[in-house]
Amino acid sequence: MKHLSILGSTGSIGTQTLEIVRQFPNEFKVAGLTANSNSELLLKQIKEFRPKAVAIMDKSKVDDLLNFSSCQVYSGTEGLNKVASLSEADTVVNSLVGSAGIEPTYRAIKNKKNIALANKEALVAAGSVIMEEVKKNNVNIMPIDSEHSAIFQCLNGENKDEAEKITLTCSGGPFRNYTRDQLEKVTAQDALKHPTWSMGSKITIDSATLMNKGFEVIEAHWLYGIDYDKIKVVIHPQSIVHSLVEFHDKSVIAQLGLPDMRIPIQYALSYPKRFQSMQKSLNLAEIKSLEFREPDFEMFPCLRYAYEAGKAGGTLPAVMNAANEAAVYAFLSNRIRFLDIQGLIRRLMDGHNLIKNPTLSEILGADRKVREEARKAIEEICSVKS
Ligand code: NAD
Ligand code: MG
Repeated sequence: MKHLSILGSTGSIGTQTLEIVRQFPNEFKVAGLTANSNSELLLKQIKEFRPKAVAIMDKSKVDDLLNFSSCQVYSGTEGLNKVASLSEADTVVNSLVGSAGIEPTYRAIKNKKNIALANKEALVAAGSVIMEEVKKNNVNIMPIDSEHSAIFQCLNGENKDEAEKITLTCSGGPFRNYTRDQLEKVTAQDALKHPTWSMGSKITIDSATLMNKGFEVIEAHWLYGIDYDKIKVVIHPQSIVHSLVEFHDKSVIAQLGLPDMRIPIQYALSYPKRFQSMQKSLNLAEIKSLEFREPDFEMFPCLRYAYEAGKAGGTLPAVMNAANEAAVYAFLSNRIRFLDIQGLIRRLMDGHNLIKNPTLSEILGADRKVREEARKAIEEICSVKS
């Protein structure tokens, strides 16, 4: 039986992880849960899954939990780190969103927990530091992201050094057929309508700008130790082929499935076993056609920025991530326009003095500094608008 601490248990990945736990009560037990501010849902989860400890970021919500639950209740960043390092847990599911996930991932690994990782931002910003700790502490990091789960399965039993290239598939997001004029006018509401996946709001915007795919390129680099030149992206609107690996002999192995995150979440938790899934089967005859085409790096420059940041390394990916996060939330609250997101990222990346081989604290320092710079830049944009 695996004992799980689920960070971000109230989110899209967090609640789907709990669905899997509910389906396999003899395989998984919940040791810890955390939420940002949704104390109502967290309380329901506490009552159903009986964790040893929980944490809520928003300290004003602690009393909602203290008065009604018998488990240990922590709060704030320290609380999150405590639940990431619980002695009762052997596996930490990181389903936090954004750079809030960096430090808890690091703490969990230091405390010898295996990681099931949805929070790609942690690897984008701090991949070098995290992967070094993974090696030192001899823990496993299993991807939840569907593309990386696919690559893991394609490489399973193969010699990784015989892989010629890996190709990440990308739905293209809701604006894949838009012109630049159309992109100028899109709203947060338009961007929140993802064609194939139903996800949290930040990753949905990242999917519309293709920054999500850029993040995934960096995530794949760290997870599989593959050079950026060997990581490709192809637009595949149906989201059925989740990714592929081509080997030296030109044989290509792909992994397919319906776009349902419960499949890769379950695999990340059940590996090396495969449990009977309750989800629908894939019927290719029903899907009819699978299309593929090159991504447009000019219309969606965030994908290009991610290759650039990944190749430059150091603190640049953390800066790109922080700039993106600030810009996406400003767009979601209708303070800036869709195309301002890419402009802000470019500007903050250009203004950064890269630190090579950064420590975790230098990465977190760069993250904080860029958020502050982004805040000012967003205010400037808003004052010009009004
Ligand atoms: P979400 O917004 O639905 O959930 C995020 C969770 O983190 C919530 O429980 C929230 O309470 C918590 N949280 C948010 N901000 C926090 C903060 N500052 N401090 C502490 N806790 C905080 O997000 P999601 O869609 O579930 O995505 C989670 C991660 O998984 C992201 O990194 C995303 O890129 C990745 N991912 C998601 C999907 C998907 O289908 N949703 C697919 C692949 C990868
Ligand atoms: Mg993905």
